[in-house]
Amino acid sequence: MEGSFLELTKLTALMAAEKIRKREISVIELTNAYLARIDELNGAIGAYITVCAEQALRQAESVQKKLDGRENILPLAGIPAGIKDNICTRDVKTTCASKMLDNFFPPYDAAVIEKLSESNVVILGKLNMDEFAMGSSNENSWYMPVKNPWDHERVPGGSSGGAAAAVASHMSCFALGSDTGGSIRQPASFCGVVGLKPTYGAVSRFGLIAFASSLDQIGPITRDVADCALVMNVIAGHDPLDSTSVDIEYPDYTTFLKNDVKGLKIGLPKEYFGSGLHEEVKAKILDAAKAYESYGAIIEEISLPFTEYAIPAYYIISSAEASSNLARYDGIKYGYRAKEYSDIIDLYKKTRSEGFGTEVKRRIMLGTYALSSGYYDAYYKKALKVRRLIFEDFQKAYQKVDVILGPTSPVTAFKIGEKTANPLEMYLSDVYTVSVNIAGLCAISLPCGFDSKGLPVGMQLIGKPFDEGTLIRAAYTYESNTGKSGVTNCGI
Ligand code: GLN
Repeated sequence: MEGSFLELTKLTALMAAEKIRKREISVIELTNAYLARIDELNGAIGAYITVCAEQALRQAESVQKKLDGRENILPLAGIPAGIKDNICTRDVKTTCASKMLDNFFPPYDAAVIEKLSESNVVILGKLNMDEFAMGSSNENSWYMPVKNPWDHERVPGGSSGGAAAAVASHMSCFALGSDTGGSIRQPASFCGVVGLKPTYGAVSRFGLIAFASSLDQIGPITRDVADCALVMNVIAGHDPLDSTSVDIEYPDYTTFLKNDVKGLKIGLPKEYFGSGLHEEVKAKILDAAKAYESYGAIIEEISLPFTEYAIPAYYIISSAEASSNLARYDGIKYGYRAKEYSDIIDLYKKTRSEGFGTEVKRRIMLGTYALSSGYYDAYYKKALKVRRLIFEDFQKAYQKVDVILGPTSPVTAFKIGEKTANPLEMYLSDVYTVSVNIAGLCAISLPCGFDSKGLPVGMQLIGKPFDEGTLIRAAYTYESNTGKSGVTNCGI
């Protein structure tokens, strides 16, 4: 690869956009650089399921024309991005990394895609993920597992593993992922980039293929905090097509890019630092807390006593919703259909047996069980009660502090195959992320150093509902003072 291509793909969205505006680079040059990078690396990393080279170049040309015509151009104009493959893109295959949707070409764009297009973002392709967003390692993709760009024997995290790996390895300037229980934040932390899970209702879910509707949320994966604010400016906002979208005034997130946390109260939940948290990760998070103190923040220990019930509650609620959401894949309306069958019941059975992978089937069975009469009260209803208690834990904590700091994941990126034999162990890696979805809060994961194996460590800041601004300010302050960000080269 030519050196200059690699140089272009190293730029953050903010830096690239400025060069585009100053006519130092063209949108076509930048898009070509990313396509070349994808050509060179995607075989090894497996981040993209579909690359839309021709469409991207057409889009790049049209954006460049607008620029040349001196049309008023928006901040992300001409920036190439990748999209998780559970977000619908019109006439571009959208698979959810499932055999079930291997032939699905959506007839419409998701709301976030319309917004990106209106902002003249160039879409490079569709990113690999765990099938139907169920997983924490990207090993559940029907197509291929994604490799962690920092160490190809390790997972990139999941389920937005392709998104985080693409951003970390400069195959995409930024990406959109989705987060139901940690799927933006955990892969961002494993790959050393920034990932934000917005407050439930802040970003339209119209066109996001549902996993667990009361938990799912689309959000940005970026190289640094400034880019995260820029992408939020484009995707956040009320959408009448999503009945859970909240109709409030959304701020300009870039106004929170301030190096200032004086007087900010940061809570450290004692439950997030107990057994199970790897010592090296713990040390990095405590270092970050000290750093915040030195910038003028006030650190306080807090308690979130219902944390230990978050994993069981999450896996019951999310599986229950998934079992209902995934009932639509029956071989009739769209998607995969079994080739041979005797009658309609046999068609349903064979289609679903052949079309879904093991983890998806496990969740459907778990969810159907939890919802069935006789077990509904004991499992589903109880999980909803626990959901309320977890929400109240946070409400109480936010009477004392403005934001909560902890690890994103108990460990750094693990080896491919290390946890596949034991689903329960895999589920436990979501221990610090699922509560945020259960309570409908916002949270950001950002790089805070490396472990002794040279793997990125991520820290998580959890905010009050619709207080993404404070997360961005706190994250930006840390990043500005330490220089730790996803701009760091992963060495490939
Ligand atoms: N790892 C979690 C799960 O397997 C979270 C997935 C997600 O956020 N989409 O359900």
